[in-house]
Amino acid sequence: MSWQSVPSSIGTGSVEGSSLRRKTGCALSMSYGPGGVVLRRVRAGDLSDVVIAPPEVVEILIGEGRVVAGSQRLIARSVIGVAVRAGAAKPNIDTTDDLRRALLTARSVAYTDPATGAASGVHFAEILNRFGIADEVKAKAKSAATDVPYQWVLRRMFLGRFLDSDKVYFPEGSGFRLTELAPNVQHVVGGGANNLIVAMKDGIVIVDAPVDEGQSRWVIDAAKAKYPGKPIKQLVMTHHHMDHSGGSRAYVAEGAEIVIPGQARPFFEKMFAAEHKLAPDALTQQSKPAKIVDVKDTMSLKDDTVEINLYNIPNPHADGMIIGHVVGPNLVWVTDLISPRGPIGRSPNTVAVGDALRKANITGSTIVGGHGTTAKQAEIGQALAAN
Ligand SMILES: [Zn+2]
Repeated sequence: MSWQSVPSSIGTGSVEGSSLRRKTGCALSMSYGPGGVVLRRVRAGDLSDVVIAPPEVVEILIGEGRVVAGSQRLIARSVIGVAVRAGAAKPNIDTTDDLRRALLTARSVAYTDPATGAASGVHFAEILNRFGIADEVKAKAKSAATDVPYQWVLRRMFLGRFLDSDKVYFPEGSGFRLTELAPNVQHVVGGGANNLIVAMKDGIVIVDAPVDEGQSRWVIDAAKAKYPGKPIKQLVMTHHHMDHSGGSRAYVAEGAEIVIPGQARPFFEKMFAAEHKLAPDALTQQSKPAKIVDVKDTMSLKDDTVEINLYNIPNPHADGMIIGHVVGPNLVWVTDLISPRGPIGRSPNTVAVGDALRKANITGSTIVGGHGTTAKQAEIGQALAAN
């Protein structure tokens, strides 16, 4: 069985009604959830101007004084549908007896858990009781996931992790390219988020792994072509956010050590241990344990040609954030806290970088962005100034 997915609430959220805004100047933000989730969220103080929910939920909220009595309007009816797996024979459900028989003979039945308060789940549980087959069906029931983080899913889809198009990385006609910052340092630009390639004496260090393994594959190949004979030794992850970490599994498959801010360890351990079943990636195809190294405070990657100092810095953007200083050419890699794409204003993010540079006695450097291009430390003094 399946359930009808009906928007059941307008609450605080991040879907913007852009056409409404164009017409009225009024910004609308909405979020969706099953009836029971809406109930819990309103009770938890997630306030909104309008709540759209099944009548039972609205009645409860009126009873609790959370919705104005008399303000409710019936605006829609939703139907509950039945679906079978693609290719499976359609069962006869013309009469209630047919439906009852179909439910009893099905190998498995999936429906929304009535405990969530979702209207379809509650209604379906009532039907099972009425048919007198609640126990039989429950025994082979598969409940649909609850509290699905819709916005998270939409963002991941926006990032294109399962879209079969190169446009996920860059606009039509564009592409990744290397910008040379020093003979042994390349900035990978052209996509939505960048990497840094640093060639050391006996191996290559990459910083960040944006989006997914498609970008990682390009970067690994480009790094090996640029610096022949050197393996990818380390991947430094600045922080765990998906738009910079989604491609990190490719580096585990490549055999690189993964250097992370210590706070992000549970996230990365889980990510590297997971199996990619929908789109099997390199790590799923050649599973191997990840070598993860925490940066608690500072760490140095050093040989007699290059010195890279990593700093895990306090900042408002992510719990655990590394900036990296390539000492010789005096380059400071910064992701998200500063994104050189035009004038850089002062914010708690830029001040956090300023504080870290002062603490490490770094002056006259070039800031190299995880987004955008580069900026001279000396030219953005205002943004870096201490509070
Ligand atoms: Zn981030």
